[in-house]
Amino acid sequence: MLDSFERYPLMFGPTPIERLDRLSAHLGGGVTLYAKREDCNSGLAFGGNKIRKLEYIVPDALAAGADTLVTIGGVQSNHTRQVAAVAAKLGLRCRLVQESWVPFPDAVYDRVGNILMSRVLGAEIELIDEGFDIGIRESWQRALDAVEAEGGRPYAIPAGASVHRFGGLGYVGFAEEVRAQEAAMGFTFDYVVVCSVTGSTQAGMVVGFARDGRARNVIGIDASAAPAQTRDQILEIARSTATLVDLGREITGEDIVLLEDYAYPAYGVPSQETNAAIRLSARMEGMMTDPVYEGKSMQGLIDLVQRGYFPAGSNILYAHLGGVPAINAYSYLYRDG
Ligand SMILES: *Cc1c(COP(=O)(O)O)cnc(C)c1O
Repeated sequence: MLDSFERYPLMFGPTPIERLDRLSAHLGGGVTLYAKREDCNSGLAFGGNKIRKLEYIVPDALAAGADTLVTIGGVQSNHTRQVAAVAAKLGLRCRLVQESWVPFPDAVYDRVGNILMSRVLGAEIELIDEGFDIGIRESWQRALDAVEAEGGRPYAIPAGASVHRFGGLGYVGFAEEVRAQEAAMGFTFDYVVVCSVTGSTQAGMVVGFARDGRARNVIGIDASAAPAQTRDQILEIARSTATLVDLGREITGEDIVLLEDYAYPAYGVPSQETNAAIRLSARMEGMMTDPVYEGKSMQGLIDLVQRGYFPAGSNILYAHLGGVPAINAYSYLYRDG
């Protein structure tokens, strides 16, 4: 589906799929859980899902003759850290707008984890006091204007690399990669569980899996706590991506499954149940997840298995999208494990 698009390799290659035997057995053994390790996809500052998206955006930035990548996220944004690493690798400058999306009081919240790495990677960072919003922001536009005013050539990457013309392509590629891995393993996955906030990860998967009739087998777990906006954005990106790759059919609201029950109490703030899920996956599988994103989709996965949402015998693929560096900004929560 992607042959006509240029890709700039930033990942090690196809990401491994790992069977989660102890977690599957702990949850009753009725279904088999696997994880696709997008969190280990690259050597670029710990990698993650934005690296896969950026493989299809970087060629456009290079073709445009840009010298500065400009993007936006929360203070502990994984996305901005990945853009900073990609800019360093390409020899470009990087300007990051980081907003106070998360009402979290850890004393070193703006010093450790992702933002620490973005600083070390050489990005120029502007901290702004604005609340959570996955849309286009004025602060981001101002940063683009500032780069131009200084004589630079900015390249605009929206929050989460999502509402970019090519933002959905990376995860169309994920679906194709999974199909090739399924062929090698001799079975197919019945469900893919994925965390959603800015939407292009799930949108790409929906388009990629629509090709063999599996759009609704992609189970999105909302972590934005603003699910109406996230759902609209997933649908919009999936529709435009379907056209871009000539899917041959329209994507509709029916194709999008987004479960809203796990994002509480707020974006970036973990519930007790999220923390229990983080501990369980760590202690069963040695697999770390974070309190903003993957801990919530892990919580959703565990709860859905326990509630019998998936038919017995299902093979379920948990897309582990990365994000673990942010856990450093929540140290007080985990001071006793
Ligand atoms: C960005 C991110 C997500 C959400 O992906 P979207 O494409 O923004 O929906 C999930 N998990 C992690 C670790 C992320 O960094």
